[in-house]
Amino acid sequence: MECPKCHSTMEEVTYGRNMVIDRCTNCKGIWFDAGEAETLKGKWMSEFIDSGDPEVGRKYNKIEDVDCPRCGKRMLKVSDPKQSHIWYEACEEHGMYFDAGEFTDYKYETLMDKFRDFLIGHRG
Ligand SMILES: [Zn+2]
Ligand SMILES: [Zn+2]
Repeated sequence: MECPKCHSTMEEVTYGRNMVIDRCTNCKGIWFDAGEAETLKGKWMSEFIDSGDPEVGRKYNKIEDVDCPRCGKRMLKVSDPKQSHIWYEACEEHGMYFDAGEFTDYKYETLMDKFRDFLIGHRG
């Protein structure tokens, strides 16, 4: 598969017994098939797959107009409802793409995020 952002080759990285994600060999962005990111978020040590440099990730995060690596349709830029500073790309049918460092961020809600939630209050 080709990286939707920098068009380098993506390599398969296995987590556990049967979860395979695709990681870019160049920018280290990660592609999760539908449902995988949510599943992996709760798994022990799953952040090890996010081995890229967050600095590089921030650079690639600015790339707009990213096409789904599976179907070629334009992906939506989505912000995580719990952590609004995280923006990832999503194809409704196929999955989502995180820049380097974003998955780790997605997995661990930071203290600031929790603090902000506390200030805003829980809306149901
Ligand atoms: Zn890439
Ligand atoms: Zn797609």
